[in-house]
Amino acid sequence: MFDKILIANRGEIALRVIRACHEMGIASVAVHSTADADAMHVRMADESVCIGPNPSTLSYLSVPAIVSACEITGAQAIHPGYGFLSENAAFVQVLEDHGITFIGPTAEHIRIMGDKITAKDTMKKLGVPCVPGSDGAVADVAAAKREAKAIGYPIIIKATAGGGGRGMKVAKDESELEVAFRTARSEAKAAFGNDEVYMEKYLQTPRHIEIQVFGDGKGRAVHLGERDCSLQRRHQKVMEEAPGPVITAEQRARIGKICADAVARINYIGAGTIEFLYENGEFYFIEMNTRLQVEHPVTEAIFGVDLVREQIRVAAGLPLDFTQKDLTIRGHAIEVRLNAEKLPNFTPCPGKITQYHAPGGLGVRMDSALYDGYVIPPYYDSLIGKLIVHGRDRPEALARLNRALGELIVDGVDTTVPLFRALLAEPDILAGNYSIHWLETFLAESFE
Ligand code: ADP
Repeated sequence: MFDKILIANRGEIALRVIRACHEMGIASVAVHSTADADAMHVRMADESVCIGPNPSTLSYLSVPAIVSACEITGAQAIHPGYGFLSENAAFVQVLEDHGITFIGPTAEHIRIMGDKITAKDTMKKLGVPCVPGSDGAVADVAAAKREAKAIGYPIIIKATAGGGGRGMKVAKDESELEVAFRTARSEAKAAFGNDEVYMEKYLQTPRHIEIQVFGDGKGRAVHLGERDCSLQRRHQKVMEEAPGPVITAEQRARIGKICADAVARINYIGAGTIEFLYENGEFYFIEMNTRLQVEHPVTEAIFGVDLVREQIRVAAGLPLDFTQKDLTIRGHAIEVRLNAEKLPNFTPCPGKITQYHAPGGLGVRMDSALYDGYVIPPYYDSLIGKLIVHGRDRPEALARLNRALGELIVDGVDTTVPLFRALLAEPDILAGNYSIHWLETFLAESFE
């Protein structure tokens, strides 16, 4: 086992990893930008190193600075959290060359899953059900028209290098195709420096269901059920729950096994998430994330496992601490993402926290790097915390969420708390009756 781990991240996820290290008796090294000198992750870690100025390109994304920090402190492994360098194959390659262990999958697996066409092709060959679409890239408008006819309208054009919902355009019929194709291309070029696009059938009212998988790198893997992350704004998740309100035990066992078998066959190591759109009882693969997800705590709550501890264990060459048989679901969990943003437009709202009080009590988990007097810097994303509740069943979890939101105090900046209060009064939310479009419609009607 490692003696010392460096956490190449900030905010609540850095705390999350430091907490696992503390429980495992492993020393933790925080890295930070100048703006984050007083941040909670710096205070909570055993050691810290300033790796650069405020912009993340010069600090949290600086590979030389992070590798140097490892060498100075003698950290043997790096946990990347999510975002930043967590899915950067070149970074993982550099670590391999320096004899530093990356707590995550191999550079090769990150590369395969980071390219959406290759990912889809790989998954298809491994027996995972995919959205019908073009097999590979679509070169020009003429080819797009041919493909669209074969797939059937409506279709969605997506960037091969995509992420964060950028570079995606829908065409309802042929009259919209040319503009959609050209816009998707130029957006992809601008966002990812790569204008390659592919096409899929556009599903009308699917849910976003993702399966948590975990591999030991030696051909064994398990699944930890699904999360329903359909509540999204601009393709960004806002609230997540596990288990999914409409997924049956049989469906879970079937798709879970398909996913676990797929990652076992490629000797995948560590945590991964296989994302699907789900409609009329069918699952359609859209992408795989080769890292810990923001919403991992809902899975931890219902299975009673520490996913970060498992990531560290398998990275150190230890076997998984559980088999599929050991993994049983207890109750229901919901997470809400608390952002420092002003409604109705979700404008980022950095600034000083004048008062902070975290909710507590049975079944309440608050993952946040806030403290009284903390100043949220304007340079990074606006997530200020995640509130996760766990109950014996979904109604209990919903009641607990409402109660916990009532206890939470975050003064000094605007937050997305009022949105969650409003959601908890909606019959559709209480009934678990929502698709990936529900939230956008609700926001258009209620807030804008
Ligand atoms: P990104 O990596 O940019 O987040 P994804 O492929 O994960 O892209 O898709 C993000 C979101 O876009 C999905 O959660 C869904 O809301 C929507 N989406 C993607 N593909 C389709 C599709 N074929 N039909 C309908 N909606 C889709």
